[in-house]
Amino acid sequence: MKNLRQPGEKCLLCLQNFATQTNSHILTKSAFNKLLGPKSDRKGMQFKINSELIQNYNASTKEVIPDTTYIQDIPKEDFLFCPECESYFGIIEDIAVPFFKNYRRNEKFDLQYAEFIHINNRSFARLKIDYPLIAFLFVYIQFFRAAVSKSLKDFKLPNVVQKGLSQLLLQYKSTSKSDFIGKIKQPFYAKIEYPIAILTAERFVDDTENFVLFLPSYPPNIIFADQFILMLFPTLEYSLKMDPVLPNVDQSLIKIGVMPYAEWIEFRKGLLQTILKIYKP
Ligand SMILES: [Zn+2]
Repeated sequence: MKNLRQPGEKCLLCLQNFATQTNSHILTKSAFNKLLGPKSDRKGMQFKINSELIQNYNASTKEVIPDTTYIQDIPKEDFLFCPECESYFGIIEDIAVPFFKNYRRNEKFDLQYAEFIHINNRSFARLKIDYPLIAFLFVYIQFFRAAVSKSLKDFKLPNVVQKGLSQLLLQYKSTSKSDFIGKIKQPFYAKIEYPIAILTAERFVDDTENFVLFLPSYPPNIIFADQFILMLFPTLEYSLKMDPVLPNVDQSLIKIGVMPYAEWIEFRKGLLQTILKIYKP
């Protein structure tokens, strides 16, 4: 088991400063906290994905009865990063979060943030973010934090991918928003090394019906984050083999796949089945 971090250890991004920051959210709270419900009645839930989940497997009906833990907050952890790196994450989050939170209001797209597009008869929200790379970095942050987290003991990225994300994040490390925008404008990377996919449903019946789930490691890496499913692919070829349309593969476009509600529910079920296979009840 991974031991929790102690005071006096180095930051897991820059590897230089002391990781004095406490209460680092593994997922960006402001983007993925609808499931917590109204402040007065927080009731979000998180699945435990370990052997305890398997104990709730009903062999005769082949159904998983998830062991749900009600959570008041998105998972967080102490001593992962230094204040400098944490504030850099904040710069990226401040720019990206409004797009994830506001691209749709009352089931309609807010044209300030997104437009509706079709590719091969599938629906997508194209985010109108000035530099799509920022949205890539935002998603990378989620995977990187989850991978270095000690409390999510089963969540791992391939070593080369984790290293790649860390190098990429460090390349754009900035102390202010203007500093960051200056760096992002320079096309260091023409191509995207690690494609990502983002999925959501066209509507939600109950905001609090979702959950936070970090799927144990294997490509693509998957984080179920409230109303979004985030995927990270180890290579371009891998992503295109899995789905030629869904992944975001270059800096010209960032899109969110929008599934019909029924399909979303099926997909969620599929994720749980996948977990069952990993843990082999
Ligand atoms: Zn640092």
